[in-house]
Amino acid sequence: RSITRGVTVEIPKVTWEGIGGLKDLKKKLQQAVERPIKHSAAFSRLGISPVRGILLHGPPGCSKTTLAKAAAHAAQASFFSLSGAELYLMYVGEGEALLRNTFQRARLAAPSIIFFDEADVVAAKRGGSSSSYITVGERLLSTLLTEMDGLEEAIFLPLIHVYAHFLFNGILVLAATNRPHTIDAALMCPGRFDLVLYVPRPDLEGRYEILRVHTRNMKIGLDVDLRRIAEDTELFTGAELEGLCREAGIVALREDITATVVCDRYFQIVKGSLKPTLTRAEID
Ligand code: ATP
Repeated sequence: RSITRGVTVEIPKVTWEGIGGLKDLKKKLQQAVERPIKHSAAFSRLGISPVRGILLHGPPGCSKTTLAKAAAHAAQASFFSLSGAELYLMYVGEGEALLRNTFQRARLAAPSIIFFDEADVVAAKRGGSSSSYITVGERLLSTLLTEMDGLEEAIFLPLIHVYAHFLFNGILVLAATNRPHTIDAALMCPGRFDLVLYVPRPDLEGRYEILRVHTRNMKIGLDVDLRRIAEDTELFTGAELEGLCREAGIVALREDITATVVCDRYFQIVKGSLKPTLTRAEID
């Protein structure tokens, strides 16, 4: 936590190593987020406009939020988080005000990443209804479009170029959704969400790495074979694998408060009792 030009900001502590699997995706994010922020002067020198917005989509619990935080950590960027669902439920005008205010604070604390969770709630396709009544979602979407365009404009204003570079460069919007097909087309163009990345459920190697990440601070028994557990948890999301590790520890202590290690039995008990949210039909 630090204070930058009067704005209290947080730089997340999550590192790339704290995310199991997703090697290629992490590399793409590094290129799109870390490089432009760390080398903004080089981008500016060559007149290259970096990516302004990235849309992460994929099933819940598979690390979209964690990836955004790791990207912010790696770039040492301030992290601002917004939830589409929360904005939607606010009183008339309050959601737009919070959106504008967040972009304003992000500018002051740049380099910044604005993470927009459940973006589909706000960024859903417009139109469809013939009434002239403007919905909450439409007002929020139009505010978001204005703010995102504001980030881009800074690059094309030669007169204030130096100032704009200093003030605006290094702000990136990362949005997450489980329903990318519902996002309004106006957001999916250059200067807005120019990069769309799919965050899949973990494959075998990914599950093994996630299990390793979430047991690295635990004392686990020599009989625990994380590879075998990874093979037996095909439908599990990252969040569920994290839950499995935590629960195994809790059950071990519940059965024996003097336990010195979490042995395989407890992983098996918990694995048998957990029902993954993803179904085979969803992944085939
Ligand atoms: P949602 O769509 O529900 O918001 P999400 O895709 O943003 O979910 P996260 O919130 O990033 O998912 O992940 C949930 C939890 O699962 C986190 O606490 C994170 O530690 C863990 N997790 C998920 N995927 C991984 C991974 N690949 N490596 C390590 N931990 C993971």
